[in-house]
Amino acid sequence: MDTLYLVVPCYNEEEALPQSSKQMLEKLEALISKGAVSPESRILLVNDGSKDKTWEVISSLFQSSELFEGLKLSRNRGHQNALLAGLTYAKDRCDMAISLDADLQDDINAIDQFVEKYYEGCDIVYGVRSSRATDTAFKRNSAGAFYKLMTAFGVDIVENHADYRLMSRRAIEGLLSFGEVNLFLRGIAPQIGYKSGIVYYERFERVAGESKYPLKKMLAFAFDGITSFSVKPIKLITTLGVLFSALSGITLITLLILSIFYFIPSLATIASLIFLALGIQLAAIGIVGEYIGKIYLEVKRRPRFIIEEYLSRK
Ligand code: UDP
Ligand code: MG
Repeated sequence: MDTLYLVVPCYNEEEALPQSSKQMLEKLEALISKGAVSPESRILLVNDGSKDKTWEVISSLFQSSELFEGLKLSRNRGHQNALLAGLTYAKDRCDMAISLDADLQDDINAIDQFVEKYYEGCDIVYGVRSSRATDTAFKRNSAGAFYKLMTAFGVDIVENHADYRLMSRRAIEGLLSFGEVNLFLRGIAPQIGYKSGIVYYERFERVAGESKYPLKKMLAFAFDGITSFSVKPIKLITTLGVLFSALSGITLITLLILSIFYFIPSLATIASLIFLALGIQLAAIGIVGEYIGKIYLEVKRRPRFIIEEYLSRK
């Protein structure tokens, strides 16, 4: 029997945790008693620098059952880093780890199938949302656009898969050998390789509290994902540059010919053309700048998280 770790990043989840942790505990106890996973399995709650009472909740859960463990990051580092911290910790203690959100939007009953797939020999099992009926129309559409954008820009990613995922210990080791500071886990997972599987599940409403991913954060996340995995935006700029040079060349010749017939372009036309060119150039420089910014952040090799406190009996 292999040991399972449930890795749960928590940011300001004092409202959701009391309910969701109960369901997680029941799930893990059931798995242990039916012999699917070893009694050494744990639920690892990672507090991502919450500003509310999340850590207090985690501490009392740790007191209440030996199946809970806690990890406290020194400050808020974002969902991806919190997950990474949890996986780094779990790696040496488990044979497989499943990452899931604290709000239980992802059906916890899918865990049984995840574990089955693991025993069938999958090193990575992706949870894929079969429907998004309970998400708001806005969230659904923006998420749809998100995946389209990603694939259009050449990022290899499993559609409708977020971060509900099982990874074997060696898959986690593979993941951790990607030394990037800017981590986009769902983009890296397919890069690890090994045999993988898919489990379909229903996506529910949050049990309590509200989303920590407003539109602004989601757009930033998508942009980050693209620039971490693909240089297509830069190629696009080159193409645009060539296209506009060609176009302006043609325009120039046309204007020369027209001027023979006394057509003189107005000042407004010229001004707007200048602004068009200026706008395109600024956008282009901005995109290139994004990549340079990424390089800047990467070369500094700053730590992705710092752990302040462990709650563990092992
Ligand atoms: N989360 C985190 N750090 C953050 C933001 C979110 O650890 O800075 C956690 C959060 O507690 C939750 C998960 O990431 O467990 C997903 O966040 P949320 O449910 O708010 O996102 P949504 O499901 O709305 O996309
Ligand atoms: Mg959620």
